[in-house]
Amino acid sequence: MEDLHKRAETLIEALPYIQQWTGKSIVVKYGGAAMTDPEMQGRVAQDVVLLRYVGIEVVVVHGGGNRITEMMDRLDMESEFVDGLRVTDADTMQVAQMVLVGEVNPQLVSLINAVGGRAVGLSGKDANTILCCKKQSTQGDLGFVGEIVRIDTEVIRALTEAGYIPVISSIGADTDGQSYNINADTVAGELAAALGACKLVTLSDVRGLLADPADPDTLISELTVNEAEALLSAGKVREGMIPKLESCVQAVRGGVDHAHLIDGRIPHALLMELFTDAGIGTMVNLE
Ligand code: ADP
Ligand code: MG
Repeated sequence: MEDLHKRAETLIEALPYIQQWTGKSIVVKYGGAAMTDPEMQGRVAQDVVLLRYVGIEVVVVHGGGNRITEMMDRLDMESEFVDGLRVTDADTMQVAQMVLVGEVNPQLVSLINAVGGRAVGLSGKDANTILCCKKQSTQGDLGFVGEIVRIDTEVIRALTEAGYIPVISSIGADTDGQSYNINADTVAGELAAALGACKLVTLSDVRGLLADPADPDTLISELTVNEAEALLSAGKVREGMIPKLESCVQAVRGGVDHAHLIDGRIPHALLMELFTDAGIGTMVNLE
C-alpha cells in the first residue's frame, strides 16, 4: 500500500511539469552511453514516448560517434578529432553517413516505435532541413565538417504537429548537394533555438559539466551562459564537451529557457530531469 502511495505521489509530482510543457517542444540530444547500450537505448525510447504522450513535442537528435569509430576501425581507417570534432575526409564522410543515416537512425526509430511511439527518421538533408557550408578552423582543414547556415523547421513542425516524433541524424548538405558531417550537439542546439523549444536536454556519458574533467565529483550543477563562455575561452572545457557546452549557450541565447547536460548512464535520466523536483546534471541558464 505504502509503495502504491509513493507511486501516486511521484505521478502527482510530475503534474505541474506536464502542465508547463504540454504543447511545447523539447529537443533531446541522444549520445554517449545511452546510445551504445541496447538496454539504455530502450529506456530512453520509453522516456521519449512518455513525453510525447503527455503532449510534449519531442524532437530527437542523435549522435553516433562511437559507432562511426567502430566502423572505421573495421575498415582500417584512422579517426582523428580536433576540439571534439571529427576530421572528415571524403571516405570518412561516406562512412559517417552510412552509419548515422543507414544504421543508427533506423535503429532508434524502431526502438521508439516498439514502445508505442510514432517516430520518423530524417537527416538534415530531408526537405533541406539543414543547409550548411564547410566549417573553417584555425587548426587546419577539417574536411567535410559542416557549419550550419540555416535550419528550415517546416517538415519537423509538420511532423510534431501531427503527433510524430522526428528523429534526426546530424548530416546536412550545402547548396550544391555536397554532404557534411555536423556535430550532433551543434545541430541539437541550433534546432532547439529554431523551434523555439523550451528545453534542450543532452544525454551523454558524463554526469554533466565538470570543473575538473578528470574528477566526477566536480559537477557544476548550474551556470549562466556568460560563465559557460568564460570556461570555454579559458580552455577549461575539452574535447566533446566543447561543442556540447557551446550548443547549450547557442540554444539559451537563441531563446530556449534552459539547456541541460545529463548523465545518460542513469536509467530514465530524462524523466528524472524533466518531471521531478530534483534536477540532475548541469543546467545552463541565461542569467
Ligand atoms: P557524446 O557522444 O555524448 O557527444 P563526447 O565524447 O563527444 O560524447 O563528449 C563527452 C566527453 O567530453 C566526456 O566523456 C568527457 O570525456 C569529455 N570532457 C571534456 N571536458 C569535460 C568537462 N569539463 N566536463 C565533462 N566532460 C568533459
Ligand atoms: Mg560528441
